[in-house]
Amino acid sequence: MALKTPNNQLKPQSPNHSFNPSTHQPINQPMNIRLFKPSLGEEELAAIKDAFDRSWVGLGPKVEEFENAWAKFIGCKIAVGVNSATAALHLALACFGFPEGKKVLVPSLTFSSTASAVLYNRLIPVFIDSDRVTLGINLEDLEKKYDKDCVAVIPVHYAGHPVPMDILVPWAREKGLKVIEDCAHTAGGIFKGKALGTWGDIGCFSFEEKKCMTTGDGGMMVTNNPDLFKNVKAMRWVGIDKDNWKTAQKYTEANHDAMHWFYELNVLGYKYNMNDLAASIGLVQLSKLPGFNKKRSIIISNYLKGLESVQEITPLLPFEPENFTYQIFGIRTTSRDRLMIHLKRKGVSTGCHYTPLTLQPLFKNFFYPCPIAEEEYCKFISLPLHPDLAEEEVAFIIEEIKNFKFGE
Ligand SMILES: *Cc1c(COP(=O)(O)O)cnc(C)c1O
Repeated sequence: MALKTPNNQLKPQSPNHSFNPSTHQPINQPMNIRLFKPSLGEEELAAIKDAFDRSWVGLGPKVEEFENAWAKFIGCKIAVGVNSATAALHLALACFGFPEGKKVLVPSLTFSSTASAVLYNRLIPVFIDSDRVTLGINLEDLEKKYDKDCVAVIPVHYAGHPVPMDILVPWAREKGLKVIEDCAHTAGGIFKGKALGTWGDIGCFSFEEKKCMTTGDGGMMVTNNPDLFKNVKAMRWVGIDKDNWKTAQKYTEANHDAMHWFYELNVLGYKYNMNDLAASIGLVQLSKLPGFNKKRSIIISNYLKGLESVQEITPLLPFEPENFTYQIFGIRTTSRDRLMIHLKRKGVSTGCHYTPLTLQPLFKNFFYPCPIAEEEYCKFISLPLHPDLAEEEVAFIIEEIKNFKFGE
């Protein structure tokens, strides 16, 4: 027997209540515009239903299908699905087996995971300042803080804006540093004809719900170096590699009592695997991703055009929406806190990406001065950016920024 949903309770109470068809906002009601919002539809629901019907929701064939589709999309040899970009970053460093206590160069202006992954591996984060203009990792500071104990660098394509990998990678190679790209803010971005995520040794992507596309939670590791990933499938799944079943083959052949239960543990693994439910959503989201990226680019162009005349603000960074794919849009202003409160009153969610990690108590023992990031972040406001953001909503946000009294 099907349960009946009390639909009438979900309907607006007031009989006169009407909705703007393009924004889905109630007319004459305050706005309620989210900063990020996943764009999910019936197609994703149908894909989950399919996984239900097969009764296979754990690590299974859909994960492999999504991995292959992702490798093809990015244009790399191998992709391995995990349950977050945090896990991807942890495993990416683990792939190299660096001795405990070595140093990894990371930007200060990033999400916690970029540096936490360093600590998970018993390595030391060396925090690098931001480029004043692009807010990506500062190449001069990188050179300055590098020493012989450094083993890797993790550039973050901040907001989706590419780090100049054509300069960073040759520099890192010369120093013998491994390069792991934190691509959590981009999915499908291309820099100088080469996909972001394929410039370094390993690229890490995020499918958390606020990112370019989502699987609820999820992540992907990519490489063009199969040797590097030889243990990664075991590392993401409690030490068991499905290929171990092949090892079992010889037992099976020799002994009619099948050794189908056999597996061998060779590496320390984590419970980091992606599952078939997430992969089913991911396959659908991937097919929509080019559309999402295009939509975000159009929104950024509209913001840039609409805000051009406002003297008191500058774009967060030199956005090139026609060339790159962005997950974050924002502005800089010295009236940051007051403008945030103004927008909040008008129903517009905003954010600050990020408080530099060098200011976080967790990292207080890793003292590396990052004066540009620490000075500039006080001016950052991230503005709503997601594929379902309506033109009227962007126009409303622009109007509210223009209405704001900066000079008081
Ligand atoms: C979101 C994010 C991550 C972590 O992604 P999860 O999938 O949530 O683990 C890592 N790095 C950066 C820069 C991020 O923004």
